[in-house]
Order: sequence, then structure tokens, then C-alpha cells
Amino acid sequence: MLPTRKAIILGAGPAGLSTALCLRQMTDIKPVIYELRPKPTTLGGAIGITSNGLRLFDRLGVADALIKRGSTRTDVAVYSLNQGKLGRLHDFAAHVRAETGYGYVRIKRVDIVDVLMEAVRKAEIPVHFGKKVQKVENGESRSDVRVQFEDGSSDRGDILVGCDGIHSAVRRMCIDPESEPEYSGLSGMFSTIPASAVSTKVTSQLTGLNVTITAQGMFMAAPCTASQDEIYWGFQREVAMPNVGDTRDGWEVRGRQEVDGFKDTLRGIIKDGGGKWIDALRELIDATDVMKFYPIYRLPLGRAWSNGRCLILGDAAHATQPHAGQGVSLAVEDAFLISHLLSDYTRPVSEVNDLFERIRRPRVAAIHQTASQNSSTRRNAEAPGQAVKEDALRSALAASSGRIAISNQLLGQKYATYDIVGERV
Ligand SMILES: Cc1cc2nc3c(=O)[nH]c(=O)nc-3n(C[C@H](O)[C@H](O)[C@H](O)COP(=O)(O)OP(=O)(O)OC[C@H]3O[C@@H](n4cnc5c(N)ncnc54)[C@H](O)[C@@H]3O)c2cc1C
Repeated sequence: MLPTRKAIILGAGPAGLSTALCLRQMTDIKPVIYELRPKPTTLGGAIGITSNGLRLFDRLGVADALIKRGSTRTDVAVYSLNQGKLGRLHDFAAHVRAETGYGYVRIKRVDIVDVLMEAVRKAEIPVHFGKKVQKVENGESRSDVRVQFEDGSSDRGDILVGCDGIHSAVRRMCIDPESEPEYSGLSGMFSTIPASAVSTKVTSQLTGLNVTITAQGMFMAAPCTASQDEIYWGFQREVAMPNVGDTRDGWEVRGRQEVDGFKDTLRGIIKDGGGKWIDALRELIDATDVMKFYPIYRLPLGRAWSNGRCLILGDAAHATQPHAGQGVSLAVEDAFLISHLLSDYTRPVSEVNDLFERIRRPRVAAIHQTASQNSSTRRNAEAPGQAVKEDALRSALAASSGRIAISNQLLGQKYATYDIVGERV
């Protein structure tokens, strides 16, 4: 009998937890997860999961639990400051749902992690928290990979899977130290507040996703729980790099400035706007005590994703800007593909990595490009440019064929009928 193989996974986010569940379901490999933070992360706002991700989560047995927690409302209303409502999309996920049987859910990141953690616990997959990697021993000639942690403990496995996000230690320590995240020029602020904190003037208009475009950035607001009792809202705009450059300290100072003055800044941006929804937006701003600031980064395309027995998945390999709404779905697609490739224990790890990249790179590149293009709606515009943008949006929303075109473009639907399980290896 062959000895059981073992995978060390770094990171208990969507990629790490999904990969552990897939390996358990599809291979002989024993996964063990090491997470940097001392407990499951409570960070993050709300995330839209499209049908390609939901279908895979269903195969892992967790889609129902996700849908029970998140909001499945799929209407979108688009507003401008001066022209009121530019239009509405009714059920933007309709055509993808008809084709795949899966729709869309907007759910807090903390709920995604919670649901996946519960499944990981049920599958009796070990998860160790508060583990900071210090050293990795990896090499072409080795028959295993060894990971040493700062607390003095260590572990060995047949592979090391870095699911440790955009600032991945696995990528830096053993795959591609020069692959650095690049700033997109855009930053955002978000908050999640109880729906009870605002009047029915807000909640009655918030029947799905409300987008408000301005010449200085974009507001988004939507319920993010199944009972619609919490509202996720935020604003993204161009923000210059801190004067001291791309440093953690510089961003902390910039973030504090943005967050401290958020009420004045956001009220200032909408001060000339009018209409029922803009009044509701003012109420939303006033009802919010704390916002979180985040600069938006992406990884450059074409960098290495593996070296020997170490590989990276999810944002660690291919963080895109969030503007194609595909980050979580890409992560779970990675998990399914790598597990399928590893299920053949006669396949050498180098071949697994080559096949993985051949299949994944074109899709990642396309989504990367779409996300960059979509972010243009958040960039500064001169008045004439803004008017043209608003007119184009109004026409597209009004045209009956615009429904599919727009949801394809802005809400991740273009990539949502894809099924990674159908890929020929
Ligand atoms: C503002 C915003 C909006 C977004 N909206 C959407 C959306 O609508 N739809 C969508 O699909 N995606 C969206 N995304 C993207 C999505 O959040 C990411 O693509 C997704 O979370 C990637 O999952 P991951 O597990 O690869 O990485 P992460 O979610 O970053 O998880 C990484 C995990 O690794 C841990 N970790 C870090 N370093 C180490 C280490 N050295 N050792 C061990 N553990 C470590 C972290 O603590 C974390 O738990 C959005 C992102 C942002 C910023």
C-alpha cells in the first residue's frame, strides 16, 4: 500500500479552506492548515459570489449554508448625482441562473470563512492558528517540504500550498520574491451597519444593489444578510500613493486621514446631488460611525506560481482588482483543479504545476483585464466626460439587450457560466 500523502496549507481564507475540503473529497492527501492570525479572521466587508463559485461550493456541500446567510437579491439600481436614477437592472443573474441553476449571493466575508471552517471541522481537518512561518526547506531533489514556524514548531508534507493572500509569505520565501503587489491607484472605504440604524426611507429603496456614480468615485450599498438586517456600503475613488511611498506606515497615515474625515469628504462629494436616493445616501453616511480604509492592490500577470513542492493558489498567485467580482470564485476553482490534478498519485508534482498553469493562466488574465477595465467607473472624470459616461450608462440600462451586456461587464456574470470541472486535462 502507498503511504498517505500530506499537504501543508498556509492560510485559512476562502482558498485555503476550499483547498483543504477539495483535497479531502477528491484525493488521498491529508491536508493540515496553518493560519497566521490567532483566530478565524473577522476582517473584510461583503463579497458577491457568482454562480461558478456557488456551483463548486455546492459540490463541497456548503452552498446552502452560504445562501442561508447571505442576500440573494439581484436587482441593481444606478444613480447619478444630478440626473437621479439612470436605470435599473431587474435580476442581473437571470440568464446565468437559467443556464447553470446557480444565481448570486452577497455575503459577509466573515460568514464565508465561518461556513467553510464549519465544514473543515466536520471533515476533521486540523487547523492551527497563530502560526507564522519562519523558514521553508524545499528543493527539486527533495522528496518532501519542511516548514518551520516562529514558535519553534515545524511540520513536513509532500507539498506546501500557499493560500496566504496577496502578501503571500510562500510566494516571497520560496517561489518568486520579486513578484510585488502593485497599487491600482484606487482605494476604498466600507462599513457594515444594522439596517435598524437607518429609516425606511433608506431600506425601502435598498431592494438590491444601489450604485451611485460621481465624477470623484463610486458609492455602492446593498443588504448583505438573508434577513436584510445588515447593510454593506462603501465608496471607492482615486487616492494618490502616500508621499513617503508605498510603505505600510505611509498607508496607515493616509488611511487614518481618510477614515477620520470620511463624513465631511463623502458629504462634500454628494453636496450638489439631489433626489430621494441621494438623501438616503446622506442618511447612510450620518448613521455610520466607523469606516475601514483599504488601498486596492493587484498582482502582476505572468509571474511564477510554483517551485518544486511549493505552490500558491487564490490571491497569493493572482490577486486581481475586485472589480470583476471573481476573487473568491477563482480561489475555489483553483482548489478544484489542483485537487483533481493531484488525485492521480502517479503524476509528478512538476507536471501537476505545469498542467495547472496551462489551464488557469488564460482565465486569470481575462479576469484581470476585465477588473482593470471595470474600475474606470471609479476614476476621476471632468464634467463633460462624466456626462458622457452617465448618458452611455442610461442608454445601456434602457436598451433591452443592455441587461446582459451590463451585468456581464460589471457584476462578474461574463465569467459565471464556466465550470472548472469541465476542463480537459
Ligand atoms: C474591497 C474588496 C471587495 C471584493 N469583492 C469581491 C467580490 O465581490 N467577489 C469576489 O469573489 N471577491 C471579491 N474580493 C476578492 C476576495 O476577497 C479575494 O479574492 C479572496 O478573499 C481571496 O481568498 P484567499 O483565500 O486567496 O485570500 P485571503 O482572503 O486574503 O485569505 C488569506 C488568508 O491567509 C492568511 N495568511 C496571510 N499570511 C499568512 C501566513 N504567512 N501564514 C499563514 N496564513 C497567512 C490570512 O490571515 C487569511 O486568513 C474583494 C476584495 C476586496 C479587497
